[in-house]
Amino acid sequence: MQALTNRVKEVDRKPMNFWDKIYLPAVIKGMAITFSHMFKKRPTIRYPEQKRPFSPVFRGLHVLNRDEEGRERCTACGLCAVACPAEAITMEAAEREPGEEGLYREEKYAARYEINMLRCIFCGLCEEACPKDAIYLSETFTPASFARKNFIYGKDDLLIPNPKTEPAAFAEAKGLS
Ligand code: SF4
Ligand code: SF4
Repeated sequence: MQALTNRVKEVDRKPMNFWDKIYLPAVIKGMAITFSHMFKKRPTIRYPEQKRPFSPVFRGLHVLNRDEEGRERCTACGLCAVACPAEAITMEAAEREPGEEGLYREEKYAARYEINMLRCIFCGLCEEACPKDAIYLSETFTPASFARKNFIYGKDDLLIPNPKTEPAAFAEAKGLS
């Protein structure tokens, strides 16, 4: 039979000798290989204590942005949802009431905003489509979970901390601290 690659190896079927039967040389050889690795440079890191630098084009977990006065930037225009090739974004718009000018920057805002991270392919098109600089993809991974419902991120999960009331958390989320 013709081989597809040149990596074919004939199986050695000759009877085992005494040293083959006690396995000791094979065990010692295996331990020597393991021992030699103790002095080699580790290719792995101790995540999460240690982290590798992100690529400049890395796209991670989404963040809903606020302006410098802490108001939500999103105006629920739906452009991000239309641009999303995975149909991962859903939202419900609401009208801003008198007295809510300090909460929402525009007259319309997203009363509900959800991203299904199981559908998301982290392409960044939502960020590019947004005319209000209201959504961006941060340098954070989506945390692992065993439950599917934990991957539906609502506004509470996505909104960046308020720079007025939580300046330290805001700076950390922006990567400024
Ligand atoms: S990153 Fe891409 S797939 Fe994910 S929500 Fe945005 S547009 Fe959709
Ligand atoms: S995040 Fe941007 S594009 Fe999406 S609904 Fe809000 S303002 Fe519109």
